[in-house]
Amino acid sequence: MLITCPKCKAQFDTEARREADGCLKTRCAGCHAAFTVYMAADAPIPDDPEVPFPPASDGIPAPETEKAGIGETQLLSPIEILKRFFGYDAFRPMQSEIIEAVASGGDAFVLMPTGSGKSICYQIPAMMRAGVGVVISPLIALMQDQVQALNQNGVRAAFLNSSLSAEEARRVENQATAGAIDLLYVAPERLATDRCRQLLKSMQPALFAIDEAHCVSQWGHDFRPEYLTIPEVTRQFENVPRIALTATADPQTRQSILANLELTGAAEFISSFDRPNIRYRVELKQNDKRQLLRFLQNEYPGAAGIVYVRTRKRSESIANWLKERGIEALPYHAGLDQPVRFAHQRRFLQEEGVVMVATIAFGMGIDKPDVRFVAHLDLPASVEAYYQETGRAGRDGLPADAWMIYSLSDVVAMRKMLELSEGDGDFKRIQIKKLEALLGYAETVACRRRVLLDYFGENGNSACGNCDTCQNQVETWDGTVAAQKALSCVYRTGQRFGAAYLTDVLMGNPTERIQHFGHDRIKTFGVGREFSSRQWRSVFRQLTAAGLLSVNLARISGFRLTEKSWPVLKGQQTLHLRLDPEPVKPVKSKPVRKKKEAVATHLAASDLPLWEKLRALRLAISRELDIPPFVVFHDSTLAEMVEVRPTTREGLLLINGVGQKKADKYGEQFLNAIKEMEQSE
Ligand code: ADP
Ligand code: ZN
Repeated sequence: MLITCPKCKAQFDTEARREADGCLKTRCAGCHAAFTVYMAADAPIPDDPEVPFPPASDGIPAPETEKAGIGETQLLSPIEILKRFFGYDAFRPMQSEIIEAVASGGDAFVLMPTGSGKSICYQIPAMMRAGVGVVISPLIALMQDQVQALNQNGVRAAFLNSSLSAEEARRVENQATAGAIDLLYVAPERLATDRCRQLLKSMQPALFAIDEAHCVSQWGHDFRPEYLTIPEVTRQFENVPRIALTATADPQTRQSILANLELTGAAEFISSFDRPNIRYRVELKQNDKRQLLRFLQNEYPGAAGIVYVRTRKRSESIANWLKERGIEALPYHAGLDQPVRFAHQRRFLQEEGVVMVATIAFGMGIDKPDVRFVAHLDLPASVEAYYQETGRAGRDGLPADAWMIYSLSDVVAMRKMLELSEGDGDFKRIQIKKLEALLGYAETVACRRRVLLDYFGENGNSACGNCDTCQNQVETWDGTVAAQKALSCVYRTGQRFGAAYLTDVLMGNPTERIQHFGHDRIKTFGVGREFSSRQWRSVFRQLTAAGLLSVNLARISGFRLTEKSWPVLKGQQTLHLRLDPEPVKPVKSKPVRKKKEAVATHLAASDLPLWEKLRALRLAISRELDIPPFVVFHDSTLAEMVEVRPTTREGLLLINGVGQKKADKYGEQFLNAIKEMEQSE
């Protein structure tokens, strides 16, 4: 397989070997730069000398032109397109400004949170402008979902990627040159091929949309070298507007996106990072599996969600454990064979109520709107990662939960991992800063949303009322003396021991080991009898999280003092600690009651029968068409139907998410279902 080095541009041959996680790690034969080729996204397509471009007419008939014929959408205003094709009444904040800017030929940089409706910002301009909007998107799954959803809405869109046969690909190319589609999705690897460049020359690009634009930045966590080649292509189309979109970017990433995509003159649209429908909660880890089970059973029975864990092994074992307890859980990690991963991803999208127990390998490009919760059983790598992972919940705007549990040993493990990680001083310092921000978030007694937004540079927010610290005020206590005792115990025992040993010393338990080391004769032995061992663990956790203790790498789990320890030890600084809530007694788990109405708890009880009926209808349609239920209608659309109970097509068209195409396709069935229910009530 021919690969182009992103650094020196040399082309070299390498064996096409798909790694388990779908990527190929390789080194350039010329300049020896190491880089990763993401095979899962779209295998680089070697130019095929046998099939010159433009393709000879292959007898495939021109695509059927939809009701909105070529150019027809160009005559519509943005709001008309929004209503007719997407079925929405009004634009969300910033959408119409962005659409205006791009439709009139300007470049744009868009930074808006997940679920805020970025796609429409390039889809509508593409429909308004002459030619075909070219969308560069990093993952096959993402393109397919988007194209499927667009086609359902009657928008003419297609994708080019390695999942197509040569003939299918040629058909799409013909559609593009004929201008018979409004949107063409391609992966960056394909964009870089000569064949694709020739295709672009033979068609009329309406705009270039660069989705997940943070992939172009080395600062970000999803760097994709192929993204760096995008400007080479767009430079050839000076008058074609470009729009770059992303949901995560700290200021550094933002700058490098603009520089690397040559977009420094673009209009910038940066909206708040807030996701008001997500409730943020962090709890102490006591028994992770039982706590998770209780959370699923009590709060989200029958709902779809993602559980993030750190390792592949945990993904498997927790998924199995849940399955044995009647929860529809599936593992997902890079160690699974690709067909298995695809099958699990497909079930998550196509079925309702699947819980994915996954490592970070899962998530990018999953735009399932009705993910009701994201649970973290282990700490994520950074606040950015946490924000991005939790952002997958509640894209449909309905209430959703971001729930995380963590413990002292997680904190110690993370610190240790960082200490051991390779990398130069600067890199490590940044990583440590990032970890500290995350631990600060976990331990905060202030509004969690405010801490998150502050981190992304949005200051001045008031307490949100929709996070655990807002809903149950955390009590604090003056932990200065306790901290002094703990720190001096670390010091006097030689900075070699972990929390369990230190707690025994503080509580005056003369264990064999303590006697062996003579630590029953030191000053701190027994000075901490006023607290329980649980309370001491809480103190050690908070000291470690705050950087007043670091881990001793020479030991399994020993603590060392840091420069931050001394002001507290010397009495120059007071310390307020969080009062951890009493642990909840683990109750014996009850068998799962499938309470599907969980996702629509805001509906009145009397509305639930209709809700169930419409959901069943949606599921039947989606099975028949082999598309995910949410592509037929979102939960929010169904819920509105239940509340409004339209009786006519006109009434149905007023429901958010029902456009003309969908009203044509499914309207009658849903109206009939509503009528039947009215009659039986
Ligand atoms: P993003 O790419 O920003 O994560 P999407 O473009 O996938 O978000 O949009 C999220 C959801 O919001 C989609 O289901 C989309 O149909 C819906 N949406 C977008 N714009 C509007 C609007 N103006 N009114 C109602 N819903 C909208
Ligand atoms: Zn809050």
